[in-house]
Amino acid sequence: MGQQEHQPRRIAVIGGGIAGLAAAHRLVELDPHCSVTLLEAGPRPGGVLSTMHEDGFQVEQSADNFITTVPWGLNLCRRLGLEDQLVQTNPAYRRTFVVRRGRMHLLPDGFLMMAPTRLWPLALTGILSPLGKIRAGVEYFIPPRRDEADESMAAFVRRRLGREVFDRLVEPLVGAVYAADVEKLSVLATLPRFREMERDHGSLIRAMRRQMKNRPRTGRESGARYSMFVTLRDGLSSLVERIVSRLPADTVQVNTAATRIERHGDGWRVWTEENDECRMMNDEWTASAVKASESSVHPSSFILHPSSFDALILATPSPVTAKLLQPIDATLAARLASIDHSGTAIVSLGYESDRIGHPLDGMGVVAPAVERSPILACSFSSRKYPHRAPEGKELLRVFVGGARRPELAEMDDDRLLPLVLDELSQLLHIRGEPCFCRVAHWPATMPQYHVGHKELVAEIEAHAAALPNLQLAGNAYHGVGIPDCIHGGESAAERILESCSPLKKL
Ligand SMILES: Cc1cc2nc3c(=O)[nH]c(=O)nc-3n(C[C@H](O)[C@H](O)[C@H](O)COP(=O)(O)OP(=O)(O)OC[C@H]3O[C@@H](n4cnc5c(N)ncnc54)[C@H](O)[C@@H]3O)c2cc1C
Repeated sequence: MGQQEHQPRRIAVIGGGIAGLAAAHRLVELDPHCSVTLLEAGPRPGGVLSTMHEDGFQVEQSADNFITTVPWGLNLCRRLGLEDQLVQTNPAYRRTFVVRRGRMHLLPDGFLMMAPTRLWPLALTGILSPLGKIRAGVEYFIPPRRDEADESMAAFVRRRLGREVFDRLVEPLVGAVYAADVEKLSVLATLPRFREMERDHGSLIRAMRRQMKNRPRTGRESGARYSMFVTLRDGLSSLVERIVSRLPADTVQVNTAATRIERHGDGWRVWTEENDECRMMNDEWTASAVKASESSVHPSSFILHPSSFDALILATPSPVTAKLLQPIDATLAARLASIDHSGTAIVSLGYESDRIGHPLDGMGVVAPAVERSPILACSFSSRKYPHRAPEGKELLRVFVGGARRPELAEMDDDRLLPLVLDELSQLLHIRGEPCFCRVAHWPATMPQYHVGHKELVAEIEAHAAALPNLQLAGNAYHGVGIPDCIHGGESAAERILESCSPLKKL
């Protein structure tokens, strides 16, 4: 105990995405004396999170908000003093459109991801045929599945609500959120609450209606303090900046990739490849520092360094984690490597408002696979969050690729843009060219939670538990959303502190 108090624990976090940052922050928060090193391969921390400000537009290049129905994102923002920066979705536009036969239709009011909370809007929608509506209504009488086995989201929804509800409503909503092939997506790993509703209430419609009946009447849709999604006024990069500013100077080392790890007594030795202009990130970190470091990446000039640590948190994407763990536990590495990833591209487009014929009176539009559209979805970003575009202009964020059209995620911008612009012009009656355009490519960034994912993760965690003083975190395991990644990182930090000092419960 005395020794622990004199010798700070040395802990390395590998991977500086939101999971790794949350882990490093939690370590320092719980034990200000421990020495934390965060190794990030890229030129800036944040992983996929990246906000750009240009021509008066605030462009989120990947994630643009996070869900508030789980606490971890909000809690971290509060602890970081960012609560007054949280921005809710514009209540005037909390509805979504769906493409049908090339035209935009409103998603039936009260249809939440996989099931209706209200029947009349479903009965009146122009998206479903009369037969499709009757089939959806029959859900009320279909006996529930009693076993606990996993199944695909597609199989689940077809079984309960019929093919049309799946093709026209659920596939585009769920497919866009997870950039996934919904035929393979695990219902238990992604939206287990719908299987719980089936089990507990016998029917999704019955469960949803009971939930709506029992919710507190506050005059607001969710009765909660925040809208279902929130973002930060200065962009999600401000979350990254705030975390970095709370870490001791020199904690975050960018341009530093871990290439090999090995056991070293009870601890670990980490080999890194550093760019010769490796940057130490501290509380003076600014966007200009990021720009400077981005321009100083010279991949040919690497130096190899071994360093020793008492404990390790691997917050790298699972294919990288697999490579690092290959020499240590080949079975674990194989399981990690078996998690597929899809890629997307985000096309951000600014327009003069008067160029857009559609009133943009919603959050955005999703396109079902059966429509064969080149886009997965388009978010009306400046309607959702008005501060994102200057007066008189609109910002649209178009998602392409995913598991449905992987080739589009990596297509050259010269070929991709005409496809996207043509589709948007037709859907939203746009005249003329955008005044602003940026494309961000995110190859292989979205882990695919296929059927059986929960068992796979349980196996991975059982193997990892046999390795002392090592924890895994990141979007490959218990949720891809920002709050899930924060929770994963923080939990990994808490477990590391417990295992590193079993006598000293925190
Ligand atoms: C286009 C897109 C849109 C999204 N939209 C939303 C949204 O609106 N809301 C939401 O909640 N979620 C959204 N997500 C999901 C969410 O943003 C991600 O799942 C989450 O940010 C991933 O965090 P992470 O730390 O697990 O991984 P990453 O952000 O991928 O971070 C991993 C880090 O590890 C580093 N690394 C890799 N190899 C090494 C190495 N050898 N050594 C050191 N470092 C290494 C990488 O450079 C990277 O910085 C979106 C994701 C994408 C791609």
